Amino acid sequence: MKKKILCLAGDGIGPEIMNVTTPIVEKVCAKFGHEVEFTDGLIGYAAYDKYEDTMPEKTWEQIRDCEGVLFGAVGLPDRDAQLKPEMRPEKRALLPMRKEMGLSINIRPIRVYEGLEELSPLREHLAKGVNLTFLRELNSGIYFGKHHTDPGGAFASDECYYAKEEIERIASFGFELARQTGQVLTSIDKANVLDSIGAFWRSTVSSLHEKSYSDVELQHCLVDAFNLYLFTKPSAYQIVLTGNMFGDILSDGAAGLAGSLGLLPSASINPETGFCLYEPSGGSAPDIAGEDKANPIAMILSAALLFRHTYKDEAAACAIEAAVQSVLGSGVRTGDLVMGSGPQEGQEIVGTTGMAEAILKCL
Ligand code: NAD
Repeated sequence: MKKKILCLAGDGIGPEIMNVTTPIVEKVCAKFGHEVEFTDGLIGYAAYDKYEDTMPEKTWEQIRDCEGVLFGAVGLPDRDAQLKPEMRPEKRALLPMRKEMGLSINIRPIRVYEGLEELSPLREHLAKGVNLTFLRELNSGIYFGKHHTDPGGAFASDECYYAKEEIERIASFGFELARQTGQVLTSIDKANVLDSIGAFWRSTVSSLHEKSYSDVELQHCLVDAFNLYLFTKPSAYQIVLTGNMFGDILSDGAAGLAGSLGLLPSASINPETGFCLYEPSGGSAPDIAGEDKANPIAMILSAALLFRHTYKDEAAACAIEAAVQSVLGSGVRTGDLVMGSGPQEGQEIVGTTGMAEAILKCL
C-alpha cells in the first residue's frame, strides 16, 4: 500500500526526532510491502522564519494533499512575545489543523514498558503492566460550546454540547478497537450530577452497545472515581472512552504514569475521511533542543500508530512497538529515562540518534 505522508517537523526538538523517525518508517515499509511518499512542510516558527506566518497557505495546501501527517512539535516560549496570541503556532496552526481536518478522535496510548517501572511515580507493583489507550473526543464538548461572559461581570458560562452522532462516532471507534483487541472499554462520564450531558453520554454509549456491540465488554465509570483508580489500580483498565475535557485532564494525568513525555505517542483521526495526524504527546522541549538529547521514542511510536491506522497493518505497528520494548529491555536509555541517581549497571546512555539507530537495527 502506498501513502502520501507530510512531515511537519516544526520547532525545538521537532526536526531532530522527525529526522530519525522517517528512516524507520521507510524500513518498516520495505519489510511489510508498503510504500511511502514523504513531503516536508513548514509549520510553527520554522514557517514564520520563511513566510512570516506560523501556518502559511502553502502548508494548508500540503495538508489537503496528503493522507496523513507526521508532526513534531510547535511553539517556542521565547518567541511567543513577538506575536499576537492568535498568530502563535498552537492557536494558528495546531488547533485549526485538528478542527479543519475533522480530527474528532484522539488516541493516546499510555504504557509503562517492562523495565521502566522505576521511572513511574507509582510504586513498582502498581506501575507494572499499565497499558491504557485513551480515546478522547476532540472536536466538540465544552471547548466548542457557547462561551458567555456577562458584560456586567456578574457571571460566566461555557456550554457542554454533544450531538448524539458525535458520541456515537467515537464510541463506535472504541467498540471496534475493543472488539479487535479483546479489551474492555471503560466509558467515562459524570452521569450522577450532570443530569443532561452526563446521562446523555452514558445512555448513548449504552444504546449503541446494546444495538451493535453486545459482544464487547463495556463498563461505565464516573470521572472522579476514575481519576482515583488511575493511581490506585491503573492496570485494571484498557480502553478509556472520554469526552473532550475529561479526556484532556485524565490523559495528561495518566501520562505521568509512564515517567517521561518522551515515551508517549498520539494519533488524531478523522473517521470519515481516514486522514490522520501523528504526533508525540510532548511539546518542543526548547530546554534540550539541538543537543541530541531528546527521546525519539514518542515520535517513533507515533509512526507505529501510522502503520496501525493509516496503513491498517497491525503487524507492522507491532514490529515497531516490539523493537522499542526490546531496545529498552537491553538497557539502552536516553537521559530522560535514567533515574536521578544516574545509570545503573547494564544501562547505556545514548542520544536521540543513538536510540533511533538501536531501534532501527532491532527492526
Ligand atoms: P514540553 O513538552 O516541550 O517540555 C516539558 C519537559 O519535558 C521539558 O523538560 C522537556 O525537556 C521534556 N521533554 C519533552 N519531550 C521530551 C522528549 N522527547 N525527550 C526528552 N524530554 C522531553 O513542554 P513545555 O516546556 O511546557 O513547552 C515548550 C513549548 O512547546 C511551548 O511553546 C508549548 O506551547 C509547546 N507545546 C507544543 C505542543 C505541540 O506542539 N503539540 C504540546 C505541548 C507544548
